[in-house]
Amino acid sequence: MIIDGKQRWARDYLPVKNPATGEEVGRMPMGSTADLDDAVEAARRAFQSWSLTPDAERKQACHAIAAKIEEHAEELARLITAEQGKPLSGPGSRFESAGSAGWAHYTADLELSPEVIQDNNEGRVELHRKPIGVVGSITPWNWPMLIAVWHILPAVRTGNTVVIKPSPYTPLSTIRLVELMNEVLPAGVVNVVTGPDEIGAAMSAHPGIDKMVFTGSIATGKKIMGSSAETLKRLTLELGGNDAGIVLPDADPKQIAEGIFWGAFINTGQTCAALKRLYVHDSIYDEVCRELVTLAENVPMGDGLDEKNVLGPIQNEMQFNRVVELVEDAKARGGRVLTGGAPRPGAGYFYPITFVADVDHGVRLVDEEQFGPVLPIIRYHDLDTIIDKANDNPHGLGGSVWSADVQKARDLALQLECGSAWVNKHGAIQPNAPFGGVKSSGIGVEFGEEGLKEYTTVQTVYC
Ligand code: NAD
Repeated sequence: MIIDGKQRWARDYLPVKNPATGEEVGRMPMGSTADLDDAVEAARRAFQSWSLTPDAERKQACHAIAAKIEEHAEELARLITAEQGKPLSGPGSRFESAGSAGWAHYTADLELSPEVIQDNNEGRVELHRKPIGVVGSITPWNWPMLIAVWHILPAVRTGNTVVIKPSPYTPLSTIRLVELMNEVLPAGVVNVVTGPDEIGAAMSAHPGIDKMVFTGSIATGKKIMGSSAETLKRLTLELGGNDAGIVLPDADPKQIAEGIFWGAFINTGQTCAALKRLYVHDSIYDEVCRELVTLAENVPMGDGLDEKNVLGPIQNEMQFNRVVELVEDAKARGGRVLTGGAPRPGAGYFYPITFVADVDHGVRLVDEEQFGPVLPIIRYHDLDTIIDKANDNPHGLGGSVWSADVQKARDLALQLECGSAWVNKHGAIQPNAPFGGVKSSGIGVEFGEEGLKEYTTVQTVYC
């Protein structure tokens, strides 16, 4: 762990295993609540001066972090592959480390200047944005480093200090990231405490933490919200999704297949805003299914360290068992497996790309978030009711409409109840566009100026 700029060792360690092989690739220090207290105290001390550091210096420090990530991009990518499983190639760990550097540079350049709301003979009113204090960050195992960057960079850019707790499945890249950050930041500005879920619970109840930023499941998000109430912590919650994709009858199956495929299966489907329910009009249903199956059978999946692979394993046993369970349930309820449909024998948590046709609402694979390499394909006939049907789900992270008529697709996309809606693509995010969920998928947004504002409080000054 890194606390107050120094390495901190633990008494106990948890093995971290490569999900492609089962091999131990490192060990996670089992931090205690005493370690957490020390980290929060260090962050509170650092806040005294970091919050008053000139904006230009904080901007420069954020660029220096980005440069560190660039300099160590390959090392970090290899760590991510080792602990997370995603391949070095394709939209895998090199993509994640390059994205982390790019995101950090972009966030460094964002500004939140004071605004003048009124300046006339009745007086002057100014709006200032101030850092909140100590930010507690809790991250998941699917994009461990990118999400850490999404949490840490806007926090430190705006003058906050941070204590981050990565997922116990993928702590190694975050520990190294924070170590690199500490080469360019004053001690205590960013600290990492690793350990069991209980450390996360202790963070959200901690009186020394002023804001929580959390990316993970809805169930954990609710717990964090509950325990944050006592100390009235500010919250940004990026939670689960069950994104619908709607294919209109005028879409060209050949043209859209690849976009749908990667929209659903980037990171082997373990992505919050992946396409997780596909609705296809009856008139082109079979053709769309055929195109998708052809793609699935030609995309190499395997050990991430092998450069030819572009899809990796499921990250952990619990998630693997969940995917197995949802597919078995769908089969038992009349789902027709078009390809895949059973675990791959041999080492690692490998489950092939799987399409399940002829399922509908009421089947768990459709109603719940699968978070894995399986996509249910739902047949529909009635265009007038398809938006209501897609919206009939508690999640609200992303959604997409696929059509030859972009204007018509955009009008329908606007009716989807979700934080991000795409036309003829799915899941594409960028550092200048706010991203967040509605309904059960979260509270608040990340990225861009809107995201930066979440790390500030407003002070209105009347003079
Ligand atoms: P998870 O909720 O199980 O764990 C996330 C983190 O929370 C881990 O670090 C874990 O140790 C910690 N945690 C567990 N119990 C806690 C508690 N009681 N209090 C505080 N922290 C606790 O989620 P996961 O399985 O790691 O990630 C998968 C989920 O994350 C999926 O639902 C996915 O959709 C979601 N996700 C959302 C986004 C988004 O931006 N909306 C991005 C990535 C993942």
